Amino acid sequence: MKFWPASKLFGFFSNDMAIDLGTANTVIYVRDQGVILDQPSVVAVKNSTNEVLAAGNKAKSMLGKTPESIVACRPMRDGVIANFELTESMLRYFIREVHNNRRTLVRPRMIIGVPSGITQVEKRAVEDSAKQAGAREIYTIMEPMAAAIGAGLPVEEPTGNMIVDIGGGTTEVAIISLKDVVYCKSVRIGGDEMDRAIVQYVKRKYNLLIGERTAEDIKIKIGTAMLTDESAKEEVKGRDLITGVPKTVLLSDAEVFESLTEPISIIIDAVHSALENAPPELSSDLVDRGIMMAGGGALLKNLDELISKETGLPVTVADNPLLSVVFGAGKVLDELDFFRDALIK
Ligand code: ADP
Ligand code: MG
Repeated sequence: MKFWPASKLFGFFSNDMAIDLGTANTVIYVRDQGVILDQPSVVAVKNSTNEVLAAGNKAKSMLGKTPESIVACRPMRDGVIANFELTESMLRYFIREVHNNRRTLVRPRMIIGVPSGITQVEKRAVEDSAKQAGAREIYTIMEPMAAAIGAGLPVEEPTGNMIVDIGGGTTEVAIISLKDVVYCKSVRIGGDEMDRAIVQYVKRKYNLLIGERTAEDIKIKIGTAMLTDESAKEEVKGRDLITGVPKTVLLSDAEVFESLTEPISIIIDAVHSALENAPPELSSDLVDRGIMMAGGGALLKNLDELISKETGLPVTVADNPLLSVVFGAGKVLDELDFFRDALIK
């Protein structure tokens, strides 16, 4: 006899979702089913009618390549919802994609991780889009809170938990105790700014113009926050600014390291300022517990070591830093009564 797993049975009735609306990536986790959407936060719309043509991977491939009649953009780019309408359209597109493919008997409950700097108006816009896309109940949670929970920090305890979430557009540093954010600092510097710094460096040093996506590739391959004995090199292709023809340059990790100095120092400053602003009892907890890092930027090589060296505290990178927020939000939805205080009111 075939056993029908309870999760499947449950999935038939409900489609509860946790959504990480990130500046670079949107991730959707469906209860008992796992992560079923993980795509760039990009949307492409027709200029004249605002009709959504694509979102996610398909829209990302259009960035910088659209004719005048189409706009492809990242509506969350700066960590605030700069463009309401586009953010709403993108969110609705993603939710529908997930929801329509798994129609269930009961409309889903949704929890959405939003940037800590979000305004009430922006928060309402996000909730309205989720409602229009079919949500029955909607909850919102601050991304650093969700990241901390997803990374496994005991946020419910009366102890200082520090999380540094480095995303595409922003870095959020938060200290959490008793399910509440005691201190939070958000700076508009993250992985994107690192990419731009590499573009600028290559332009200045080699008169070579490269795209931001090429820069991101280099950052992921040979980027580092501290130089070590090992060294690495990577070819980069771009356009020579003097002759106008395509050219290739061999870039070393030491050069990429140099180009990343400034954005990294801003991240370190944000960490320092959180430490300076922590209530003394919580500071003393941090000495033992250290700092947890999440977000894609936490994967930059040796960044954890650099932060540890600069602060004198132990630093851990979350197991799956790109998924910490969505995992945390999912956990909150599963244990809503326990985590109710962690939600945005
Ligand atoms: P957001 O939450 O803002 O959507 P993410 O947490 O998804 O952002 O992280 C995206 C950022 O992480 C991008 O800037 C990307 O380049 C960067 N990133 C991803 N993997 C790595 C890596 N291995 N090394 C350095 N940066 C990385
Ligand atoms: Mg994020």
